[in-house]
Amino acid sequence: MSISQKNINGLFVRYLEQQKDMFGDGFIMSTKQLNAIEQAMQPQNSSPFSESNSGKITLVDFYHQIKECQKCSLGKTRKNFVFGSGNPNADAMFIGEAPGADEDSVGKPFVGKAGQLLTKMLAAINFNREDVFIANILKCRPPNNRDPLPEEVNECEPYLHRQIELIQPKVMMVLGRISGQTLLRTSDSLRDLRGKLNYYCDIPMIVTFHPAALLRNPNWKYNAWDDLKYFRKVYDVILAGDDPKDVIFESNYK
Ligand code: URA
Repeated sequence: MSISQKNINGLFVRYLEQQKDMFGDGFIMSTKQLNAIEQAMQPQNSSPFSESNSGKITLVDFYHQIKECQKCSLGKTRKNFVFGSGNPNADAMFIGEAPGADEDSVGKPFVGKAGQLLTKMLAAINFNREDVFIANILKCRPPNNRDPLPEEVNECEPYLHRQIELIQPKVMMVLGRISGQTLLRTSDSLRDLRGKLNYYCDIPMIVTFHPAALLRNPNWKYNAWDDLKYFRKVYDVILAGDDPKDVIFESNYK
């Protein structure tokens, strides 16, 4: 009888469980340690987003479903479909407007100059890019980086909704006035959108400056720093199980 690797893994975990039943937690291993072993024995996935074993659709499945999209004319002019990148189970998600030339060439969001600044903004509040998920409202580059057209947003925004549904972030940050106004269906100024909790797909969302705007106007970085500190506090409060509405936006510069 041939025993597959999966069976061997299962037998080993059962053996450890029996040991634990016989000798108790102190003798061999805690349930937490057993779970960690079981998890470490699951087959590894080399894709940029790991897949779940539950049989449910994963972010990878979703990527494969939509990566050839031709729903709007941007499908014809793009070099690459820019799905998004990062941790598929991220608690924090960052949303930009649309890929630029660098992102279109590479197929990943925020890899150009603005992306490098975004990486620094994340680091300033103790996040790595790999901890969070980064996506855009549009998955394809608009020619000459023009603003997204309403019909493009109509076609593409449902993809963002599905990504949010699959990732289930606890809090999101949207980058830039246009992105904020688009997602929140408002013409409010960036000044009015910042410094408070907005909700998108029923998830708290904080609006801040687009990193490209910060590169053009370095003085705005002071205000952006207020937003980042606010975001981090909201994130920590939510992860601690407390109410983010209690977090006060402290602004030295607004
Ligand atoms: N600007 C965006 O909004 N998104 C990117 O991915 C890059 C630049």
